[in-house]
Formats: sequence, structure tokens, C-alpha cells
Amino acid sequence: MKYIFLIVILVISSCDTSKKTESISIGKKETEVIEIKNFSDNLKAKNIILAIGDGVGPNQITLSRIAIGGLDHRLFIDQMPYHGTSLTHSHNNAYTDSAAAATSWSTGHKTKNRYLSLDPDKEVLETIVEMLHKKGYASGIVATSSVTHATPAALYAHTDSRYEYKNIANQLINSPIDIALGGGKELFDLNKINDTHHLLTAKESLQLNFDYSKKLIGLFDDDGIERSNQKPTQRQMTSFALQHLNNQCNGFFLMTEGSQIDWAGHDNDANKMVEEFRDFDLTIKDLIKFVNKNSNTLLIVTSDHETGGLQILKQDGDKVIIQWGTGRHTSIPVGVQAYGPGAELFQGLMDNTDIHYKMLEAIDYINLENQTCDI
Ligand SMILES: [Zn+2]
Repeated sequence: MKYIFLIVILVISSCDTSKKTESISIGKKETEVIEIKNFSDNLKAKNIILAIGDGVGPNQITLSRIAIGGLDHRLFIDQMPYHGTSLTHSHNNAYTDSAAAATSWSTGHKTKNRYLSLDPDKEVLETIVEMLHKKGYASGIVATSSVTHATPAALYAHTDSRYEYKNIANQLINSPIDIALGGGKELFDLNKINDTHHLLTAKESLQLNFDYSKKLIGLFDDDGIERSNQKPTQRQMTSFALQHLNNQCNGFFLMTEGSQIDWAGHDNDANKMVEEFRDFDLTIKDLIKFVNKNSNTLLIVTSDHETGGLQILKQDGDKVIIQWGTGRHTSIPVGVQAYGPGAELFQGLMDNTDIHYKMLEAIDYINLENQTCDI
């Protein structure tokens, strides 16, 4: 009995991450200043790019800034010209998961955790991808998780369980999404996919050009993409998706997610978090350059929630001491950064559902005519 008691205590104390501290080296890197153009207010956008850093709160950005370049360094996300703040709570919970958060941008409605683009009563909510498809838009998703994971899935799937991955995979194949890149190979019937989609499974295929007779799906790992030289990064997949979506149809909507920043937060692994964030920040660099060349594109960067309750406690020589408060998500508000026509809409404090309506306002959605366009 005494031993069982001891084991229980040991298990409880090993689950308690609240005291976990790490020291992280302060980086030394000059800021790479990126050109930011002026867009006058009230300009309308055509294309929308929504870049999501899953699990990125203000301190994930702060620690990445310090670790990558030092206290006075500026990341690419820092150089976005408009900054706002978003609340993240779900329909009936201060704690949101990625499913309810992504449903808020996708549909403009809050829902219960685990639900994907269904309202709390399980009624189907139209997603921004479905809405824009009727207006002749092309659409794409990029994720470093499986393409069926909650954030991308809220754009095309409707289910009361985000964990029904095979059902979600089927919904992706039958959705209007023109290009989907990420992991999740084990969830799809690869023989059947070829009927409807070009299937890419090797990083090298991102060098190739494809015709538009079929939709594209790239599945580069069984589940989430394990980071290695043999696998594509978020940055590489995003650049490929943009090549295919740009100048097609009436405009395009692209969501690109740094999915595993969240996973590193759940693991309380600061070095991994910074590594994942670096890929996300380099993706943002490319996206800013894309807006500079394609001035009808609005870029929005935000997060679904903070993960890990990350705190930066103090400096100790050439290191900072950080502490994680939890292995779960927190209700800390997240940042919203925007660049391009309509970016000025994303200032101040907003609810996560507001992001949906601001995106529609930026492209003057109510005045778009119904059109069809399949690339
Ligand atoms: Zn998470």
C-alpha cells in the first residue's frame, strides 16, 4: 500500500511541469530588414493568405526573437506593419483547442472544442473556402502536421470530432481545396487519390511544374512531417502552393500553418519551439515579399492559442531562463499581424471570430459575383 502511494506521488510529480525551467542562449544576428510598402486605407484585396503559428503566444515570439538574434533583433513577424490582439476562447470554454479556434476564422462562429465547422448544436457552418469557391476563388492549405489536423480541417470539413481523421481525409478529397500540402499519408487511400488528384510524396516533386487538369495533394509523411533534409519545410511547401494558386481564377485563399510550434509547447521543449518558429518566420519573410510583388494580396498572421504558458523569467549571462507553466493550451490572447490592402482592419483588440469578417470585408465579399473556376 505504501509503495502504491509512493508510485502515485511519483507519477503526479512527474506530470507536474509547472517548475520546469530551461536556459536558452541569447542569439547574435543582425536584423534582416525587409521592404514594407505603403498601402492606403480602404484599398480592397483580391487574394488572402492566412498564416497560422499554432500555439504561438506573445512569449513564443519573444523567446524566438531572443534566441535567434538577441534582445534588439527583429524577426520578420515583428516587421509586419499592423499589429492587433485576438481573444481565443471557444463557445463555452476559456480553454480553446485548435478545432474551435480554426472554426472561428473559417466560419465567423464560436463552437465547442473538438468541433470542426459545426455550430454548438451541430448545424453545418459554411467555411470561407466554400464561400469563396462560389465566387470563383482557388484555395490551398499547407501544414507541417497532417493535412487532416484541426487547423486545416476547419476550412473544408464538418464534424463533431476532430479526431475522425479518415472521415476528414475523405471530406478533403471531396472539398473545393485545389492544393493541400502536409503530412497524413497513412490516412488516405493512395490508389484512389490518383483518380481525382496529382499525388506528390517526395520533397523533390516541389521542383516540378504541374498542369491544372487535377487538384494537387502532397503527403510528405505518414502523420506530421518529421523535420529533416529529406522532408519539405513549411516555407518550401508555402512557396510551391503560391506558385500554383497565383494568377488563377478570381483570386485565391491560402492557409499555411506552422503546426508543430504547438507540439513543442505541449512537450515544453523550448529549443524545438524556436526551431519550428524559425521555419514559420522564414515563411512570413517569403509571404511579405509575395505581397510586395502581388499588391492585391492581404497577408494575416495569427495563432489559435498559446501553448505551454511560456514565461521568460530573467537573464543569466548570455542566456535567458525560461519556465513553462503547463503542458496544455492557455487563454493568453494572441497577436494578429497584417500587411497589404485591408491590413489596417486588423488593429486593436478583436475576437477570433472577427478575423473571419475582417477578411471578407477586405475583399469586399458582399459585392463579389458568383462565378466558377476549377484549376
Ligand atoms: Zn495543441
